Amino acid sequence: DLADIGVTGLATMGRNLARNFARNGYAVAVHNRSHSRTEALVKEFGGEGTFLPSEDVADFVASLKRPRRAIIMVKAGAGTDAVIDQLADLMEPGDMIVDGGNAHFEDTRRREAALRERGIHFVGTGISGGEEGALLGPSIMPGGSRESYEALGPMLESIAAQVDGVPCATYVGPDGAGHFVKMVHNGIEYSDMQLIAESYDLLRQALGATPAELAQVFREWNQGDLESYLIEITAEVLDQVDAETGRPFVDVVVDRAEQKGTGRWTVQSALELGVPVTGIAEAVFARALSGHPAQREAARGLEGPSLSGVAGKELVEDVRQALYASKIVAYAQGFDQIAAASKEYGWDVDLGAMATIWRGGCIIRARFLDRIRAAYDADPTLATLLADEGFAGALAAAQEAWRRVVTTAVRIGVPTPGFSSALAYYDGLRRDRLPAALVQGLRDYFGAHTYQRVDKEGAFHVDWSGDRVEHTA
Ligand code: NDP
Repeated sequence: DLADIGVTGLATMGRNLARNFARNGYAVAVHNRSHSRTEALVKEFGGEGTFLPSEDVADFVASLKRPRRAIIMVKAGAGTDAVIDQLADLMEPGDMIVDGGNAHFEDTRRREAALRERGIHFVGTGISGGEEGALLGPSIMPGGSRESYEALGPMLESIAAQVDGVPCATYVGPDGAGHFVKMVHNGIEYSDMQLIAESYDLLRQALGATPAELAQVFREWNQGDLESYLIEITAEVLDQVDAETGRPFVDVVVDRAEQKGTGRWTVQSALELGVPVTGIAEAVFARALSGHPAQREAARGLEGPSLSGVAGKELVEDVRQALYASKIVAYAQGFDQIAAASKEYGWDVDLGAMATIWRGGCIIRARFLDRIRAAYDADPTLATLLADEGFAGALAAAQEAWRRVVTTAVRIGVPTPGFSSALAYYDGLRRDRLPAALVQGLRDYFGAHTYQRVDKEGAFHVDWSGDRVEHTA
């Protein structure tokens, strides 16, 4: 008998994904470069379903039903190209190669184009949810051809997380769209985590609260608008006590946040597209700042305010509101970036559908995503989520608290780049006129870059070095 689908690359993610397919009744071909992983999988979990192990790639491909469906779950990068080449050489037109790793969307575009020439569908697929998600139901973001989704979609939807009976998997768009959306998902995850960290830091410094007390605050927040996986696990991490020292876990961890690169990719792409994803950028840079011990050591003696324990309990509710408002901004920016890329690359991504498949399985899963979906349902052409009636109302209700939080942070010297930049973005978009007019005037002065007028059509230039009279450019 042949397998319905194959998984090659059986480390944490691939193994659990293969088990997920098997537990859902699919016969799964399994392969890994070093055979020991394949053997271990079959030995430990063979009883969960039908696994067809192969020691070499040719047998693996031969064990798949036609059209063949093979998922690659190897370390993203050069390895992926090598595995794609091996598979493609053994496949025939109509077969499907799915890359479930965290590939850069430009690599996916390149690979898709090359395989399309050979008649093979290349399906760059974002998979979120980590180890547990892969096993119990991830959020799945497949790109590639629509035709390949016809064949793969039902299988992916059946192994994905389900929320209210709706699978957290849907067709995203052609070529690199799936990996792009996964990248922005990760960028938003950076931003969410940064805002949570700022909330914790500010409350801890300003109130002199303990991590355990703050765990309780996050637990309460998780009952309301902020209900989400990340808020839930924040309470658990803050509650954790180090067994060796008896100190709070957060106090024994070196405060250096690492990154594997998807946040950076998101910001790089946003710079190319000209989309201000300030929330994600600040989160990436905050991690970078934490990772510069020499500079931090050199700056340690710099002057700052010596205020702490300065705020009253009302700060807790203010911070909750600032966190919610900043989160709305971060998501608005991320969705803008997806919209911009969709336009640039002709993907036609359904933004509401992306909010739908992020409701479960993935790291940013949250009740909040239902509201984003509702916003796009109400108006699929929404220019920014901030303008949605529901979100506009939430921002209006939160904005005073948000300003108090940023003011307090500035006053006591606790950095809140996420809160501050989100507020600046909100104020920037909301303003009638920005000082961009002055910037454009300066550009016209030194570079004759011209400007447009508020009261008539055309491009103009002032002869700054001469008579300072305006001319039509
Ligand atoms: P790793 O990223 O640790 O990769 C290890 C796997 O890649 C092993 O099976 C290894 O084979 C294989 N591999 C590496 N290089 C090659 C090569 N040149 N040829 C063939 N096989 C190779 O595994 P993970 O399970 O953590 O992740 C798999 C993919 O999923 C990655 O792209 C990752 O970014 C992505 N991902 C991971 C998440 C996570 O939470 N870990 C979440 C979402 C996506 P061998 O055993 O022979 O060394």
